[in-house]
Formats: sequence, structure tokens, C-alpha cells
Amino acid sequence: MSDCIFCKIVSGEMPATIIEESEGLIAIKDVHPQAPVHLLIMPKRHFRSLLECDDEALLGRMLSMAKGLAEEQGVAAGGFRVLINTNKDGGQTVFHLHMHLLAGRQLAGEMG
Ligand code: AMP
Ligand code: ZN
Repeated sequence: MSDCIFCKIVSGEMPATIIEESEGLIAIKDVHPQAPVHLLIMPKRHFRSLLECDDEALLGRMLSMAKGLAEEQGVAAGGFRVLINTNKDGGQTVFHLHMHLLAGRQLAGEMG
């Protein structure tokens, strides 16, 4: 997808702070962090949203990567949140499937 900013990050056309890359996935720092730890985990392949992705193994690996990153970032025990905003009412603004990993502050009581 030539007009997709996350595809451009995957291809190296756009800069990003890459935290991890493995098995068709990439994790980057969110440019507008909502918490001390705010990472985005995404497939390198373009899927417009969760609705377009039927690859259960890939979706499973996204969750596993989130868990591993939470451990590496030292926030696993304290707690963290993963979420996938989907379509307009879900708050999706970048239409390339991605999972947020948020941690480092008290998130309870908030839904977004
Ligand atoms: P969503 O609202 O779930 O679609 O989330 C999109 C996220 O992407 C937001 O948290 C943005 O801050 C983040 N974002 C947008 N552009 C970039 C970028 N170039 N590099 C890193 N994160 C970005
Ligand atoms: Zn894309």
C-alpha cells in the first residue's frame, strides 16, 4: 500500500524507532505516547484492520510479541494493556492493522 504510513515504516521509507522485528512482525514506538511505554505491534504485510486479517497464527504471534515486549520493558509484573482499535467507532486512525501495548502508569478505569 503506497499511501500507508505503516507500510512506509516497514519498508524503511519513513523513520521510526524500531524495538523488535520477527516473523513478519515489527514493533515500533508510538510517536504520540499515551503512557510511559507505548509500543505498536504490527504485521509487515498490509491488512486494513483486524477485520481483514484471517491469519490466526499471525494474530497469535502479535499477542506473544506484546507479552515478550512487556517483559523486556520491565512492565509485565506491574501490568499492561493491549488493544486493537478497529474502524471509526473503535478509534482507528491508521488503517494498517496494529496492536497497542500500553504500560507504565495506572490504566484501570479507562477504556481508551
Ligand atoms: P489508532 O488510533 O489505533 O489507529 O492508532 C494509531 C497510532 O499510530 C496513534 O497512537 C499514533 O500516535 C500512532 N502513529 C501515527 N503515525 C505514527 C508514526 N509515523 N510513527 C509511530 N506511530 C505513529
Ligand atoms: Zn500498510
